[in-house]
Amino acid sequence: MNNAAVNVADAHAHPLRVGVLALQGDYREHLAMLETLGADARPVRRVEEFEAVAALVIPGGESTVIDKLSRLFGLAEPIRAAIASGLPVYGTCAGLIMLADRLLDAAPGQQSFGGFDVTVRRNAFGSQADSFETDLAVAKLTGGTVRAAFIRAPVIEQFGADVEVLASLPDGRVVAARQGNILGTSFHPEMTGEPRFHELFLQMVKRATYRSKRTA
Ligand code: GLN
Repeated sequence: MNNAAVNVADAHAHPLRVGVLALQGDYREHLAMLETLGADARPVRRVEEFEAVAALVIPGGESTVIDKLSRLFGLAEPIRAAIASGLPVYGTCAGLIMLADRLLDAAPGQQSFGGFDVTVRRNAFGSQADSFETDLAVAKLTGGTVRAAFIRAPVIEQFGADVEVLASLPDGRVVAARQGNILGTSFHPEMTGEPRFHELFLQMVKRATYRSKRTA
């Protein structure tokens, strides 16, 4: 069922239109990764562009800037409402921060879109281990450990009962999780050429599309 090759082939047969919020950060890497996996990936900067996609990836970068620009461009409210209605979303690093219901060490006035029942601490590794790469065991993904790049990364400090933990550091801190149609990672698979989280997300998108078609 979790056969990646089958899912990639399916995505090529029926391209999934996935938006990448392209206000700031490493959105180009996400667009490239999604295209490689057969999705119809599109940058989203305007409300009309957002309304044309079936799912959204929120990239890494600087969450305070993504927050300000999304409010300035009138995207914050539509995105918030769509996530609350079940839009599939995947956030990496700053993107995870944007999805969190609760933030620790946020900048004054900083807001998130929310929807993900997690408490996320920004810049959780302090200045000592500001940025690092490590190999993570992720039980949900076949094919060996995940090479994960952490760059001034957040961690998930608390989470609700509906949240499924996908990966933790050896010290127990949670760095990847999922809840319904929401996926979040503290690290950047798009930067290390690791496709399996994006594949997992495309599977979630496919299921969500299927369900909405059936209920239409
Ligand atoms: N520290 C950044 C923030 O708070 C996130 C860093 C990243 O996305 N690599 O938004």
